[in-house]
Amino acid sequence: MPVTSTDLYPVSRLAAVQEATAKAGLDALLLTPSPDLRYVSGYQALPLERLTCLVVPASGESFMMVPRLELPAAQASPAARLGLEFVAWDETDDPYRIAARRLGNVAKVGLADRMWAMSSLRFREVLPGTEQVLAGRVLRELRMRKSPGEVEALREAGRAIDAVHRQVPEFLRAGRTEREVGRDIAEAILAAGHETVDFVIVASGPNGASPHHELSDRVIQAGEPVVVDIGGQLHNGYCSDSTRVYCVGEPPAEFAEYYEVLRRAQDAACAAVRPGVSCESIDAAARSVIEDAGYGERFIHRTGHGIGIETHEEPYIVAGNTEPMEPGFAFSVEPGIYLAGKHGARIEDILVCTEDGGERLNNTTRELVIV
Ligand code: ZN
Ligand code: ZN
Ligand code: ZN
Repeated sequence: MPVTSTDLYPVSRLAAVQEATAKAGLDALLLTPSPDLRYVSGYQALPLERLTCLVVPASGESFMMVPRLELPAAQASPAARLGLEFVAWDETDDPYRIAARRLGNVAKVGLADRMWAMSSLRFREVLPGTEQVLAGRVLRELRMRKSPGEVEALREAGRAIDAVHRQVPEFLRAGRTEREVGRDIAEAILAAGHETVDFVIVASGPNGASPHHELSDRVIQAGEPVVVDIGGQLHNGYCSDSTRVYCVGEPPAEFAEYYEVLRRAQDAACAAVRPGVSCESIDAAARSVIEDAGYGERFIHRTGHGIGIETHEEPYIVAGNTEPMEPGFAFSVEPGIYLAGKHGARIEDILVCTEDGGERLNNTTRELVIV
């Protein structure tokens, strides 16, 4: 059964956020349109120069500042179920002063991580003695731990992007440009139930050695490996992200050799996932396989990133992150090997940590797909 907004944005979340805000020693969170606002309220507001801001005090009643012309949209959003007051402001009002007056004396507030500088500076002006910190400090604790509804939303996203990867062999052939292939993939991403296409990486031949190469007019040649890393936001608001490698005809021998190393590394990292192990140990599981095979210097990025309502969020699977895994953590495992000037490869799945270990949400073949 598809997840509903009641599963994804439970009314109880607001109380949990207030509790976490108090525990962190903050007086309030100020959440302008951003993933943080959507996470707390379910309202996906457009970031505009006119202030929309959910104010969540550590205790007491939350309220949302909304431009009067946006009021109907806010009232039609899942935020309306939270029972908070919408404070509509008119074109000649100063919404920052109104918010400050209602807030009263506050020593320390958390601002949405993606709040625009124009808003954070105006809040500094109207709350002159108030210390500003990132709301992410509070919200990361909640956002990292996905609820069963959120995990189901990520499973749906995983199935949708898997369906696209299964179609990639139809689009890829020698003589087409990366951009032509990318356009077909983007269409397929939408057709598979995504609301947005967030990125389409089609990196052929030497472009495969650049992890974030997107699309170019390069013509794909026979015998070239092609790295395809794609993702979007599903209709439920949760993100997909998966990388597979294809080869137009038989791959170069050197490539085939390190691709097998990469497969083993990616499997080792996935197998290392279970509650209690540190994020950095999952990175180490992949990295040690690649280092032992002599490609350590060619693995030039962390092993993965958390994923949810943003493609990149906490927890990061990187050396130095000692955060212990918990059931509900969702993240990518995407080691890569890159040979500048020649080719490269990356294999990426989204996993969720369960009591029994890692559950992969992407399940298309991880073998090199010859097209
Ligand atoms: Zn990336
Ligand atoms: Zn990716
Ligand atoms: Zn990724």
